[in-house]
Amino acid sequence: MSESAVLHLQRAIQCKTISYKDRSLMDFSEFEKFIENIRSDYPTIFTSGQIERFVGYSLLIKLPGKTDLPPIGLMGHFDVVPVREENWIEPPFSGIIRDGYVYGRGTLDMKGHVISMLEAVEALLSEGFEFERDVYLMLGHNEETGSILPDSGAVAIRDHLKQQGVFFSMVVDEGGALIDGKSLGIDGTVALIGVGEKGYLDIELSATQSGGHASMPPKKSAMAQVFEAATKLERDKFPANFNDATNAMFDALIPFMKQPLKLLFSYKDFFKPILLKVMTDKPDTAAVLRTTCVATMASGSFAPNVLAQKATVVCNVRIIPGESIESVRNRVQNMVGSEIEVKLHNGTEPTDISPSDIREFEIIQETTQEHYPHFKAIAPYLMVAATDSRVYHGMSKGVYRISPFEISKEDMKTVHADNERVLIENFLKGIEFFKSFIRKASQS
Ligand SMILES: [Zn+2]
Repeated sequence: MSESAVLHLQRAIQCKTISYKDRSLMDFSEFEKFIENIRSDYPTIFTSGQIERFVGYSLLIKLPGKTDLPPIGLMGHFDVVPVREENWIEPPFSGIIRDGYVYGRGTLDMKGHVISMLEAVEALLSEGFEFERDVYLMLGHNEETGSILPDSGAVAIRDHLKQQGVFFSMVVDEGGALIDGKSLGIDGTVALIGVGEKGYLDIELSATQSGGHASMPPKKSAMAQVFEAATKLERDKFPANFNDATNAMFDALIPFMKQPLKLLFSYKDFFKPILLKVMTDKPDTAAVLRTTCVATMASGSFAPNVLAQKATVVCNVRIIPGESIESVRNRVQNMVGSEIEVKLHNGTEPTDISPSDIREFEIIQETTQEHYPHFKAIAPYLMVAATDSRVYHGMSKGVYRISPFEISKEDMKTVHADNERVLIENFLKGIEFFKSFIRKASQS
């Protein structure tokens, strides 16, 4: 099986399924080719499943189980982000094997994950394994441009399932992480399972003036006004605090910590000022404790010697659970004052936090432990990036983001970057992981 699995992955990588916000740039024949490939590579899935297509290319495959227990949902997406070819050591859509790796855009994000999942399901079905619960495979074709756009495949599938009254026992998507436990006083690797996601919001700050020649400037230009406002927002940061996801993470990790961190986290409410101070010093830990706001775009006049009539700065905001688009807007407007106009774009609220004390979460934990016994601890965490799985919060007992693979820090850096690659050995282990996971999750 392993040779054919690698071949199937290579074939998947060879489809240039690149997502663009401007849909007219998307080459849908490549998406069709991907679907045709998996149809011929996974004949048992496609003959025993009920297949439906949404928004043209997103696939919903229902594999019926024997009972009417709540189903499980396995999510994935087969679109990828664009490439800059210059720095690749192998062509990005070749799927070439080099030094034990398959190279190509999507090997990690996330065709490798999707293919390992399909391999596992196909193998289970071919072995005559019968699911007790319905198993849904939800494969999106435009995840990389976000579930905010009106033609999101994930949203269309979700709406359809909602209409059918489907309520999942669990939904699983990409997004787990591996971290070195050292900074938490843990000797070894910690595997993190995403139980929720921050919200997303773009905020446009603008100031308007009459404009005119730059040789006779006003006391403060419109540009300076919006820069000041944006600077204020970056300087006076949103308050940091523990939330349900970080609390659940610490609770899971405390037993594995060494002193003195074990003591500090065991009494984390008492030691909160120190812990928050240390954790907000670093961008990665700060991001799970507070709403972040950073200026990303600016525009002014059309010429160097002309005053801007309208100056704008766009800030990108990631909202922590417990806060909301509304509470962010109020705080921002209060801080920048009435001179600055505040406009909101592309908002999604933070998700709720899926429980980590239920059997569904335990199944993920157990399977991870079984296949990766050298991991020191497995804990829930808050994802700061967005995935399509956010749309299933409220439609499932739990929504979890996992990685079936053990990916090194070095390889992780190739996601959305040059020379994306997956170690074949890890990819094959991912198939075994999914086989155990799906077997368990579809039974109990
Ligand atoms: Zn992805």
